[in-house]
Amino acid sequence: MNNKIYQKRRNTLARQIHAKSGGGIAVISTAPELARNRDSEFPYRHDSDFFYLTGFEEPGATLVMEVNCSGKDYKLQSHLFCRPKDTEREIWDGIRLGPDAAPAVLGVEFAYSNQELDHKLGELLADQDAVYIRLAESAEADRRLRHWMKKVRGQARAGINPPSEFHDVEALIHEMRLFKDAHEVETMRRAAAISARAHIRAMQACKPGLREYQLEAELLHEFRNSGAQSVAYNSIVAGGANSCILHYRAGSTELRSGELCLIDAGCELDGYASDITRTFPVNGKFTGPQRALYDITLAAQEVAVAMTKPGNTFMQPHEAALKVLTQGLLDEKLLKLSELGSLENAIETGAYRRFYMHRTSHWLGMDVHDVGSYREQSNSSSKEEKPWRILKNGMVITIEPGLYVRPADDIDEAFWNIGIRIEDDAVINDSGCELISRGAPVKADEIEAIMKNA
Ligand code: ZN
Ligand code: MG
Repeated sequence: MNNKIYQKRRNTLARQIHAKSGGGIAVISTAPELARNRDSEFPYRHDSDFFYLTGFEEPGATLVMEVNCSGKDYKLQSHLFCRPKDTEREIWDGIRLGPDAAPAVLGVEFAYSNQELDHKLGELLADQDAVYIRLAESAEADRRLRHWMKKVRGQARAGINPPSEFHDVEALIHEMRLFKDAHEVETMRRAAAISARAHIRAMQACKPGLREYQLEAELLHEFRNSGAQSVAYNSIVAGGANSCILHYRAGSTELRSGELCLIDAGCELDGYASDITRTFPVNGKFTGPQRALYDITLAAQEVAVAMTKPGNTFMQPHEAALKVLTQGLLDEKLLKLSELGSLENAIETGAYRRFYMHRTSHWLGMDVHDVGSYREQSNSSSKEEKPWRILKNGMVITIEPGLYVRPADDIDEAFWNIGIRIEDDAVINDSGCELISRGAPVKADEIEAIMKNA
């Protein structure tokens, strides 16, 4: 394992702690294991922030960063608390790294058994002013912090001062995670390529009479067969009317000729998500109304892609997509120009929301809805609304316009139950953006061709 990237990230975090507070202690624990039902656990998934700083995937671990002022500079020492070696447990559950091996493998200065966490924290927090921790995370985390603080306060008569400054460590880490380094972008490219192949596999397997879960099985096959550890989120495979339910899960609905199938699915590879949506006709050929709305959605995505570049705000791709979608709804008479008067009014009044009720983009990274503020960060404490985030090199966003037409008396029946979304993953670079998910075809003709030749 290349532990240098994690050391570099810890140093970046330490530098900020030094700048804000002179020095301090940062505490970041990984995620707990979760029981599914009797004696059976959910597949374990590490905490993203913890993994970002350590590259360590085992449960039961905590990273403590000790940042001490040293002249004008700072000195960082990283302490890892992890599960101790245990022959009996390792026979049942698998090999543990253990504290003896951890410093060499993870590049931390010190490692201990996690059973020493409470005791050691009492020492590490002594005479430190600032603590960087997840605030108000859980009752359990609050209880532990109280326990550590009690230990330090108990030493007051020995002349030891407890910390008096508490900061949210997430805010600092999440700002870092918003900008992906070369290693992260490369991992995300590989994740998106696997997911793109999975979408092709599902399109090619699709035929009337199959059920949604059978296409989900095709996706999962490609994910795991390509080495992805997991899905990045529960796969949406939605046939017919289900395509208009935004967070539908793959169910047992039969896929019928003449209807659309919407698949929103992506794998997680080495801790990074991909997030792709494709919509295709179950029988391999779009109907006229389906094709009309599909082409509008694709045109909306194209203008949004063109607006996804450094210097534009996070909202500009959405605004561009919204215009094309709304104009399309007017052209197809799903929105009535006679009632709305103008395109501008159809947007301003939110009339389009009946057919397009979500945003066009979200950050993508370790988490599918990744962390990072959507507003510009400024030091002003004014309550005024901060401007939307300016897109910059290294950010990764999805671009996913859609149109969803549910049955209604005032809607031409030919459009009923058409739900379309087209979603790609974009890495912002100097010249605009790189679409890393385009291994899956997106043009209607290309989709039809790929299904025909299956
Ligand atoms: Zn998405
Ligand atoms: Mg998605």
